[in-house]
Amino acid sequence: MLYSQFFTKTERQAPSDEVSINAKLLIQAGYVDKLMAGVYSLLPLGLRVYKKIEQIIREEMDAIGGQELVMPSLQPKENWEKTGRWTAMDDLYQLKVDDKEYAIGPTHEEVIAPIAKRYISSYKDLPKYAYQFQTKFRNEKRAKSGVMRGREFSMKDLYSFHADQADLDNFYEKAIVAYKNVFKRCGIGNLTYLTYASGGTFSKYSHEFQTLTRAGEDLIYICEQCKVAINKEILDDLKSKCPVCGGNILREEKAVEVGNIFKLGTKYTEPFDLFYTDKDGNKKLVIMGCYGIGLTRLMGAVVEVSSDDKGIIWPEAVAPFKVNLISLNKDAEAEKIYKDLRSAGIEVLYDDRSEVSAGEKFADSDLIGCPWRVVVSGKTLAENAVEVKQRSKEKCEIIKINDLIKTLR
Ligand code: ATP
Ligand code: MG
Repeated sequence: MLYSQFFTKTERQAPSDEVSINAKLLIQAGYVDKLMAGVYSLLPLGLRVYKKIEQIIREEMDAIGGQELVMPSLQPKENWEKTGRWTAMDDLYQLKVDDKEYAIGPTHEEVIAPIAKRYISSYKDLPKYAYQFQTKFRNEKRAKSGVMRGREFSMKDLYSFHADQADLDNFYEKAIVAYKNVFKRCGIGNLTYLTYASGGTFSKYSHEFQTLTRAGEDLIYICEQCKVAINKEILDDLKSKCPVCGGNILREEKAVEVGNIFKLGTKYTEPFDLFYTDKDGNKKLVIMGCYGIGLTRLMGAVVEVSSDDKGIIWPEAVAPFKVNLISLNKDAEAEKIYKDLRSAGIEVLYDDRSEVSAGEKFADSDLIGCPWRVVVSGKTLAENAVEVKQRSKEKCEIIKINDLIKTLR
């Protein structure tokens, strides 16, 4: 991608109406645009990051048997009345047009359960797993955490359908492993804790995945030994003891919930009469689980934990481009390197702007935060070399052009 033709530009200053680091940096660097409180556009740079996160999640969900679909946001009131959530869910957006009422989907149990009913009638039809990447709408009271708490945001939600508890339990453990893989691959694995939380209707607890950051709105308590945590909301319930080893929970940390998995049991299959017939001919309710990850929240969380006073420091797997190539008045040579890197399958943002100073190009490069910066200047070209710097490190290296692709790989 040529910087001179980019749809967006960086801004000199972070927006003054945002308090969170993620919103400040993402807006200043041109990743997102705020339309109103809690509602953001993903600009071309932001969409590139989003797509990388999406693909990582897709691969992990496919690996545990998930099948992708997409469900609508506009949903009939009747489905929400069936489950009682038309009145019970206080952040539900409700819409009335021509005397007809609709819910604007904050989650999709009310849609997937009736779909599943069409295809599940026998034990032979179970288990089944479906997931989507979809825009959710929630009337969040506070929207001060930037893209980490949107009123419109994107979520991966997977729903599983089982014949019995043991089968759900078995899949649930696989989902935990898949979730750990997702967060590890997105570069926040070491900061993300499996956290026991309330909200299980079928089991005693649900499990959250909480990423440590001062920007988080949750308080969690970590067991250093087991590397698990408990959410403050159930701390008293557990008498401040680790649910795994029974030891004392010591460290209190602020964290953001990037994922949440639940054993739903029959909470949503009952209102929709989602039964199956077992081997002996008995009619039984299907058992459900649900598994969410907030993609835009995850993107914001990565920025919160991986940035400095100059800008974002993207982990390689989710960076918009691997390399930010900068030409300092050596356009012909830089152009050749740009083409060679691209032929080698390396994603490059090439800063080919001619009217912009070296200082500004470096500042933009730090702000945008690609993992590698490659500078083409007369000084190093004399030695057939370029200057290479990793965004996460201080040191620059002089690398021969012939060795560049090898170094970047
Ligand atoms: P929170 O307690 O933080 O409001 P939640 O418990 O309501 O979140 P879930 O219903 O469990 O959220 O949604 C699944 C996932 O979707 C969450 O783990 C989170 O990653 C993401 N998510 C939830 N609400 C938002 C939001 N307002 N903006 C962005 N992502 C969100
Ligand atoms: Mg939750």
